[in-house]
Amino acid sequence: MECFKIAIIGAGVVGSAIARELSKFDIKTVLIEKEHDVSLGASKANSGIVHGGYAGKSGTLKGELCIRGNQMFEALNSALNFGYRRTGAYMLAFSERDFEVIQHQIQNGVKVGESGYALLDEKKLKERLPHVSDQAIGALYIPTVGVTSPYEFTIALAENAIENGVTLKLDFEVDKIHKDKTGCYEITATNSDTLLAEIIINVAGEHSDKIARLFGDESIKLLKRKGQYILFGKDQSYLTDQVIFQLPNDKGKGILVTTTYHGNLMIGPDAEDMRLDVNKDTSVESLEYVIQTARRSIPNINLKRALTTFSGVRSMSETGDFIIRPSEIEGLFHVAGIDSPGLTSSPAIAKYVVEMLKNAGVDLKDKTYFKADRAPLIKSQKQDSKMMCRCEGITEAEIRDCLSRGIPVDTTDAVKRRVRAGMGNCQGAYCRPRVKALLAEALDLPEAQIKTRTETHVAPTRVSIEVIRNLNV
Ligand SMILES: Cc1cc2nc3c(=O)[nH]c(=O)nc-3n(C[C@H](O)[C@H](O)[C@H](O)COP(=O)(O)OP(=O)(O)OC[C@H]3O[C@@H](n4cnc5c(N)ncnc54)[C@H](O)[C@@H]3O)c2cc1C
Repeated sequence: MECFKIAIIGAGVVGSAIARELSKFDIKTVLIEKEHDVSLGASKANSGIVHGGYAGKSGTLKGELCIRGNQMFEALNSALNFGYRRTGAYMLAFSERDFEVIQHQIQNGVKVGESGYALLDEKKLKERLPHVSDQAIGALYIPTVGVTSPYEFTIALAENAIENGVTLKLDFEVDKIHKDKTGCYEITATNSDTLLAEIIINVAGEHSDKIARLFGDESIKLLKRKGQYILFGKDQSYLTDQVIFQLPNDKGKGILVTTTYHGNLMIGPDAEDMRLDVNKDTSVESLEYVIQTARRSIPNINLKRALTTFSGVRSMSETGDFIIRPSEIEGLFHVAGIDSPGLTSSPAIAKYVVEMLKNAGVDLKDKTYFKADRAPLIKSQKQDSKMMCRCEGITEAEIRDCLSRGIPVDTTDAVKRRVRAGMGNCQGAYCRPRVKALLAEALDLPEAQIKTRTETHVAPTRVSIEVIRNLNV
């Protein structure tokens, strides 16, 4: 059996960014993922904010890598066409004391190398954000903040890595690891599939503690913290087309109000520590808190326009900083505890990992050719191709395009994450059967075999959207 030089365990945004970075070198790399697609962990369900210098304390890896990552997004988007927009953000002050906290945020931002802040008084804030609460007496404006679509970014990174020679192994849930006689690690999946690799990079998100333990390494301890959101129709983005934060608290950045890259208003996340039962369910109690807190920033949030709820789980280290280091175990490297701003930091983490490998003596020689670009998904006009998703205006040609980009696409949810068919007001009621029929035809399978998602990706229990629309808060 072929022995890969490097196996990356976990195809979230960080694993995919590392895979792309390693695809610049003349080595055989495999990207391993337990699910049937990339980006189904924390990288699917988060705020999608490309954070600024406030998001990581100076002197920490987070502080260093967040700002470096932020500065890479513009160029990465030009090359990979995943969708990114610099919007700027406001951190609201509700009392004079809040300005003291804001001063600390500015000092931290300056230390990590950010500039361009503006302090706004109440009048200027109201001019810029006419729908902001009357309780807000001013704000810090942070121009470097942007928004992206986290799963489209991850898919773009993984597709480009594959185009540059990385092997992607989906449905491979790493279960056992041991060294064989030749010194290679034999990695066995729960379905008994195996592969060999000399070096292993553990980027398994909320399961990176388990992966470490497979090697007998007990050093990765994670705290898992769930955050819940409500997503609204695009017509609600009139409330703000930028990112609005409150002051950070001891559990994170607090509840934000933002418009997503694709133009939906979104509020959340809260912060709930998870002990034994890590789940991605949503609950009325948490979402009521999200609504009440978001309305402190923007009072006119209209629950009748809510579309869906979702949640994501942050995996945090004991120190609060990212864990990016070699293990005591030879050939094993950890990239764990990557909570927020991990999405922002991911391209910088990938570069940092390459340096770490080089410092550990891994021989990485540049390839003669690296294809840095990924073509954008085609945008066809209604008259040129059959309309499949009326809410988002997605045609058959666009869906066919996303089926042939290196990662197998055979569920309606996988199509949804790539072209947004099913993300609109009717939440797939119109397009899902049509996408199913198209997938069946394109993959030459009976329609009954085309699923919304695969069995491994168990759908969480979500509060019915009718309940949210009728909440009395
Ligand atoms: C609520 C919330 C809001 C956030 N908001 C932001 C934000 O606005 N901006 C920002 O910069 N960051 C944000 N983050 C942080 C960001 O989402 C994460 O830092 C980032 O997604 C982590 O990526 P990852 O690749 O490390 O982990 P993941 O995306 O979780 O990927 C790990 C992968 O490993 C796979 N895996 C696990 N076990 C195995 C196994 N045994 N075998 C094979 N594969 C395995 C999983 O299936 C998964 O795909 C937020 C996070 C949350 C939860």
